Amino acid sequence: MVTALQDNERKDWDTYFMDIAYMVSTRSRCPRRHVGAVLVQGKKLLGTAYNGAPMGVADCSEAGCMIVEELEVNVVGEEEQMIKKQRCIRTIHAEQNLLLFTDRIDREGSTVYVTDQPCWTCANMLANSGVKEIVYHRGYPKDSEKVVALMRQRGIVFRCLDRYEPPAQAGMSVIS
Ligand SMILES: [Zn+2]
Ligand SMILES: [Zn+2]
Repeated sequence: MVTALQDNERKDWDTYFMDIAYMVSTRSRCPRRHVGAVLVQGKKLLGTAYNGAPMGVADCSEAGCMIVEELEVNVVGEEEQMIKKQRCIRTIHAEQNLLLFTDRIDREGSTVYVTDQPCWTCANMLANSGVKEIVYHRGYPKDSEKVVALMRQRGIVFRCLDRYEPPAQAGMSVIS
């Protein structure tokens, strides 16, 4: 016999939609980072996206990552250090794919759940997309202050689900 879940065992909406974002992220073929994003209007799922190469183009699993090296400022206490970071630029970011595959009218006043805190470019695009709330799980320190300031300026709710635990089958370690 199947018994119904008690109310306290039932997933809240944040967990529910973030779980979906994590499951979507498993479609990504970039070994460095799997990012998933979903668009939610009210309680309705209106779109899903992950980071990947454009359609019909060899992805990271076939052609390898397209690595660039960038210098980044790393602040330790009072000290600023320049550190070299490697990034894969083969993929369109999940948030950008989400914007490419959803309609503006569906995005007005909506919420985006995304596994990782958006980078500056994605944040800038989301800020102009009609989305009113962005919920993320894993932090992304690069440009984080600028992103937070931008969201505040645009009146977009920007929150981290810090107590959230991703589903075991969707977890992966991230190369930062
Ligand atoms: Zn890659
Ligand atoms: Zn991005």
